[in-house]
Amino acid sequence: MPILKIARMGHPILNQISQPVIDPTAPEVSRLISAMIETMEDAKGTGLAAPQVHMPWRIVVYKVIAEREDTGENGGVPTTAIINPVIEPLGDDTNVAFEACLSVPGMAGPVSRFNRIGLTYQNIIGETVECEAEGFHARVLQHECDHLDGVLYPMRIEDMSQFGFIEEMGKNNENEGSEQHREEVSDE
Ligand code: ZN
Repeated sequence: MPILKIARMGHPILNQISQPVIDPTAPEVSRLISAMIETMEDAKGTGLAAPQVHMPWRIVVYKVIAEREDTGENGGVPTTAIINPVIEPLGDDTNVAFEACLSVPGMAGPVSRFNRIGLTYQNIIGETVECEAEGFHARVLQHECDHLDGVLYPMRIEDMSQFGFIEEMGKNNENEGSEQHREEVSDE
């Protein structure tokens, strides 16, 4: 499987609304998903949405490593492909944390997301799956599903003074939680 080229902010495909997948069991869907997983791993990302690899379909791959203690689920989430995902907030509670994105390389900024969400999607064998996610897991899903609607995380930053290059944040915030920045940021 080839490593796919990742579109960066400014490419019009990232601003499009992606199309629903009619047949999640189609061979081209599983081929695309395999290539997306390989591309995500190569780029050391946490998640990847199909439009990020120039394919305007409602498909996301992601994983949450077990070491993240704020996932709400012990043991993290293994590499998962979700097709036609629909998320809904569970409650009004939100939290703000730094996000990064493979389509906005080298940068990070604070984004408010819902603490808990419900997720409905189809898997690669066409089953409909319903589940709940919280904490970092819920954040990753909200970030990735935004991609399917043409929304990039910088469009959601309220305090733009906090948006910047990760490298510079590390240099300048040595006494103000640079460790925290590094820990929170993972490319999605
Ligand atoms: Zn992203």
